Amino acid sequence: GSTEESFEFQAEVQRLMNIIIHSLYSNKEIFFRELVSNAADALEKLRFLSLTNRTLLDDNLENLKIQIEFDPEEKTISIEDNGIGMTREELINNLGVVARSGTLNFLEQLKDQKDSALIGQFGVGFYAAYLVADKVTVISKSIYSDKAYVWESAADKTFTVKECANQSIGRGTRVILHMRQDSLEFLNEHALRQLVEKYCRFITFPIYMKVESSTEESTEEEEEELESKTQVKNVVVNDQKPTWLKNPSEVKEDEYKALFLSLSPYSKNYLTKTHFRAEGEVEFRSILFIPERPPFDFFSEESESTPIKLYLKRVLVSDKFAKDALLPRWLSFVLGIVDSDDLPINISREMLQQSKIVHLIRKKLIQKSLEMIRNLAASEEMEESTPSSRKESNSTASYSQFWKQYGKYIKLGVIEDGEYRKKLVNLLRFKSSKTVEQDPNDYTSLKSYVTRMKAGQDVIYYLAGESIGSVKNSPLLEQLKAKNFEVLFLTEPIDEYLMQTLTEFEGYKFVDVSKENLRLGQDDKAIQSKLSKAKKEFQPLIDYLEKALSEHVTRVKVTSRLVNTPCMLVAAEGGYSANTERILRAQAL
Ligand code: ADP
Ligand code: MG
Repeated sequence: GSTEESFEFQAEVQRLMNIIIHSLYSNKEIFFRELVSNAADALEKLRFLSLTNRTLLDDNLENLKIQIEFDPEEKTISIEDNGIGMTREELINNLGVVARSGTLNFLEQLKDQKDSALIGQFGVGFYAAYLVADKVTVISKSIYSDKAYVWESAADKTFTVKECANQSIGRGTRVILHMRQDSLEFLNEHALRQLVEKYCRFITFPIYMKVESSTEESTEEEEEELESKTQVKNVVVNDQKPTWLKNPSEVKEDEYKALFLSLSPYSKNYLTKTHFRAEGEVEFRSILFIPERPPFDFFSEESESTPIKLYLKRVLVSDKFAKDALLPRWLSFVLGIVDSDDLPINISREMLQQSKIVHLIRKKLIQKSLEMIRNLAASEEMEESTPSSRKESNSTASYSQFWKQYGKYIKLGVIEDGEYRKKLVNLLRFKSSKTVEQDPNDYTSLKSYVTRMKAGQDVIYYLAGESIGSVKNSPLLEQLKAKNFEVLFLTEPIDEYLMQTLTEFEGYKFVDVSKENLRLGQDDKAIQSKLSKAKKEFQPLIDYLEKALSEHVTRVKVTSRLVNTPCMLVAAEGGYSANTERILRAQAL
């Protein structure tokens, strides 16, 4: 029976489609990215299956392809693949229900405002078709079914599914977009080729398009004849050699950019990248990127995205991995691709995780990521010493840009990764009493702090607080300022944990200036005797204050630490600093 059945979309899908249709989204062209990547996914799935189950494919793997067509009269664009296809049930479930947490996240973020810029960031998948189409027809034949089915919806809360009238069609999926009146600009070869160029560089399957070609040797007089000679040829319009398999010298900047865009739905640019080939104990090729900014759900456990895509012999297998299998949590902002010939393709998930080779790949990726970050830091130091080099360097990324976005992650690494702690400590940056005076956006490394240390200073001072504004005028700093001792300002909650881990740098202890018994270098004799005199003189006042404030303070003391302020509060040695108390209080709420 080829009877047509009608279904209702899941409520979330209805909401999503409603947002998409009514959005004023200027970047409509992402429909192409989404549909072509679905086609590529379907081909990838088939290729993967066929490697372990050869009977699935009767024809040659080389025939896996994507076909793009357009019809200006009918006002349709179709995107077809001969991949895994969908059964009737899959058409109903995959295209009628959102299973991806990403999409649900998207709806959550969007709430009821129609901030459509988010559409491009999230990637709403198949439904992006409705950015340009008022009706979508999907014809599909699964490798698991001997019948082809047609799914269709005009985005009116319902869709229909029926058997395909033409049962002689081959395996795979054809998505036909009935273009909306306001999206007809895509109905030509030039526009579609531009989309292929922009979004499909990273696709490792051939994309075919029928293009008009004319014979070369034509002259002007023959022009009329020429028109009849114009023939339509089906040609490959994408460059399928994966960027990461190329020699870095062959790859232009815009190709890296296209690859990056395919990996990163939330950031338009990358700060820096590295493209390398690992040799020796383990062989693989890789490109790693640091995006301009981190994804919004970085540490979130349920985030599905695997930042590093792992290919085994050109086949994507990263779905077999836990998120942190290839890079530790503190490097989870690094995006990239790894392609290895060393791992057997039909290895199980558990075995893959424990594999020695995976361990070696991970080690190399960490090393390369650190190198990439160090290079950013080094190029900035170079710029400082030779301002003219700024022009020569084509990268505009700066380490302070990196630090602003990813400082937390480096700190996290120092805290939780003993193996790399030493290296990471050199990447730390802080604002300090000196840097905020010079430039509020400036940072110092610990190394340069140490080079600026004054005679008589034998520790690294820090002060933690809620904000730069609140620490920079603290009376706790008076004496340090008078002595010209630099103080690091720590304003992030993670900093207190960082200091508990660090304790010292190059033999210099970290000292919290908000604690009592702060020693400011060697106190000179004159101050010592002045202090003991003052202690005697003020003893009655101290006794009185200790009694009066007994519920609030542990001790009252005479100090040499103040210059202009009559008194200050400090934390007891070994006790929590005021800032830690503030953070603990906030966490308890
Ligand atoms: P995602 O690709 O992130 O899973 P989409 O909304 O893009 O989400 O697609 C939903 C699902 O529909 C896919 O997971 C897949 O199962 C199915 N699908 C979409 N396009 C195709 C296709 N061309 N061939 C086979 N299955 C497809
Ligand atoms: Mg998709």
